[in-house]
Amino acid sequence: MEAIGVLAGGIAHDFNNILQTVLGYTQVLLQNKPSHDPDFINLKAIEESAQKASSLTKQLLVFARKSESNLKPTDLNREVNKISEILSRTLPKMIKIELNLEEKLKTVNADSVQIEQIIMNIGLNAAYAMSDGGRLIIETGNVTSYDKISNPELGLNREGYVLLRISDTGIGMDEETQKHIFEPFFTTKGADCGTGLGLAMVYGLVESHKGHIICCSKPDHGTMFTIYLPVIEAMPAENYAKKIEGNKLHCGNETILLVDDEEPLRRLGYELLNKQGFTVFVAENGEEALEIYRENKKIIDLVILDVSMPGMGGYLCFKELRKMNPNIKVIIVTGYSDNGKVKEIIKSGAAGFVGKPYRFTKILNKIQEILDTKTNRK
Ligand code: ADP
Ligand code: MG
Repeated sequence: MEAIGVLAGGIAHDFNNILQTVLGYTQVLLQNKPSHDPDFINLKAIEESAQKASSLTKQLLVFARKSESNLKPTDLNREVNKISEILSRTLPKMIKIELNLEEKLKTVNADSVQIEQIIMNIGLNAAYAMSDGGRLIIETGNVTSYDKISNPELGLNREGYVLLRISDTGIGMDEETQKHIFEPFFTTKGADCGTGLGLAMVYGLVESHKGHIICCSKPDHGTMFTIYLPVIEAMPAENYAKKIEGNKLHCGNETILLVDDEEPLRRLGYELLNKQGFTVFVAENGEEALEIYRENKKIIDLVILDVSMPGMGGYLCFKELRKMNPNIKVIIVTGYSDNGKVKEIIKSGAAGFVGKPYRFTKILNKIQEILDTKTNRK
C-alpha cells in the first residue's frame, strides 16, 4: 500500500496540474462564447469532464496522504451525530441508522471534514451493499488495554485509542475481495457505479490521523469496519470554552511575556490576556524576548513562547531564559508538526505546552494551572 501510495501520489499531483491547465483554457474560451454559440455546449462538456477528473485525482491525493489534515481536539460523538443526520437524509428510507455512542468518549485529534468523508464513504458503500434494506450501525468507544492486546497485528502502540465502528447487514465480501478493498481503483461495481477510490481515500485519511483501520466481513453476513484513532490526553474538546467561562482568571499582579513572530497572533494574545487582567509584555522573536526578560526578570511570572520563529527560535531562547532563571515558568506553543523539538523542551523543564490551534483558550487554562500551583490557590 505504501508503494502504491507513492506512485499514485506522484502521478496524481502532475496529472492534477495538467487538468488545471485544461480547465483554465476551457474557461477562457467559454468566457468569449455566448451561450447560443454551437461550441458553447461542447466546451461546457470539456469543462465538466475535466472537473470530474480533477475531483478523482484529488481523492487519489488523499489516499497518498498528499492532502493536508487540520487536526484539532475533536469530540467524535458530535461528528457522528452530525453525519448520521446527513446520512439519514441521503440514504434510502429502508436503511435504518442506529447509533451506539460511548458517553464518556475520550477526545481525539481529528479533522472534522475528513472524519465526515470517512464515515460518508463507508456509509455509502454499506447502503450499496444493502439494496434491499438493512441496518447501518455506528458505534464509538474507548479502547481498553484488552482490545490492544487481543489485536496485536494492529500495532496500537499509543497510550489510548478511540474506536469508530461502522457495520452493515448487507451482502458482505469474500476473502479475496477484502484483500483489495483499500487499493485505489479496486471496485466490484460496474464502471458507472464505482470509482474504487472511496476506501482508498478512507485508508489515506485514517493514516494521516495516525490511526488504523480493519475490515471484517463474510458473504451474506454483513461488513464491519473498525477505525482506531489516537486519543489526546486533554480535556474534552467542548469543555475548554466552558472551563474558561466558569473560571474567570483573577487579576493579580501577574505579568506575562508573550513571544510570537506572527503579528496578528501577538495582538490577539495581548488583548486576550490583558482582558483577563494580566500585565503583558510582547516580543516578536527570541532575541527580543531575552532582552525584555533581562530587564524585567523580577516582575515576569510566566513566559509564553512560540517554538518556530525566525532568528534564534524558541528552543534556544528557552535555554537562554533558563540560564537567567532556572525556575522560570514557560509555556511552549507549537504546531503539531514540531513534535520532536517540543519533547526536548519539555524534558528540559518547560512548565507546559499547548498545540496550535486552540491556542489562546487552551493557554488560559494552562496559565491558570501553572499560576495555581505557584500560589496554591485551587
Ligand atoms: P467503490 O465503492 O467505488 O467500488 P470503494 O473503494 O468504496 O470503491 O470500495 C471498494 C469495493 O469494496 C467495493 O466495490 C465493494 O466490492 C467492496 N465493499 C466496500 N464496502 C463494502 C460493504 N460495506 N459491503 C460489501 N462490499 C463492500
Ligand atoms: Mg465506495
